[in-house]
Amino acid sequence: MKKWVKANFIILIIWLLFEGVAVSLTVFTKNFFYLYNFSYIGTCLAVGVYLYSNKVSFARRVVQFAVGMYMLVYLGLICNENMQIEGFWFYLFSGVFEAAVIHYLVAKIIGPLLFGRGWCGYACWTAMVLDLLPYKTPRKKRKKIGFIRYIVFVLSLLFVGALFVFKVANIQKIMFISFIAGNALYYALGILLAIIFKDNRAFCKYICPVTVFLKPMSYFSLIRVKVDKDKCISCNKCKKSCPMDVDMLDPSRNRKNATECILCMKCIENCPKSALKL
Ligand code: SF4
Ligand code: SF4
Repeated sequence: MKKWVKANFIILIIWLLFEGVAVSLTVFTKNFFYLYNFSYIGTCLAVGVYLYSNKVSFARRVVQFAVGMYMLVYLGLICNENMQIEGFWFYLFSGVFEAAVIHYLVAKIIGPLLFGRGWCGYACWTAMVLDLLPYKTPRKKRKKIGFIRYIVFVLSLLFVGALFVFKVANIQKIMFISFIAGNALYYALGILLAIIFKDNRAFCKYICPVTVFLKPMSYFSLIRVKVDKDKCISCNKCKKSCPMDVDMLDPSRNRKNATECILCMKCIENCPKSALKL
């Protein structure tokens, strides 16, 4: 009964939080898009938590596809809103507080202070596909090539910056083409790296430029996996089940790979002593 109440309380808080963002942005921007956009995402997350609390094993996948497909197909391809990092630079340089700028603030810059890299676990349309590959947990040691993300980050900034500096015509069209080309490249690279490193999330660990925002912000995340040292028997089952190589046995914020956690809950599910919790 206590668990049931707690789960429903969390569902309500998540839903209300997103409704709060939806209503505030609609009032602030006078644009009804934000009302259905954030209401839809909040409802997907609430349904996901409901399914998870009812032990539905594919609950996270349901949210991943419901939100990921909405952002990729509806927002990206149909509405022509580039939510990739290039889209963020584009709207930022245009001086427009809309679309990708709001998306980045909510999901990738301010939001992670509360829910860490929940974006990566539940909404990213790149990871939505990569998670279908067979290498759910890394089979090889982590490589020290994470610096690549900074190169990709700077390249994306230079690319969009150059379009503005050189006053290139048809920027909107170029952004749409870059959205399609960028996604195709991310999928191809993500799948290739997953096969090479035998790790579905290799792209997230080494390449994704969005992590330049996500990692420092999620360091301060309120919601994070914690370990009860008194219950832990150091069986390492949590570490073996983590797709992101996080050291859950260390309760400190600066534990190894602390800012990599995507809140997938695999470690919590696999702990035989219930020593881990959010
Ligand atoms: S690291 Fe990048 S590609 Fe991976 S889930 Fe997060 S945003 Fe998506
Ligand atoms: S297994 Fe645990 S520590 Fe690893 S990403 Fe998932 S929730 Fe985070």
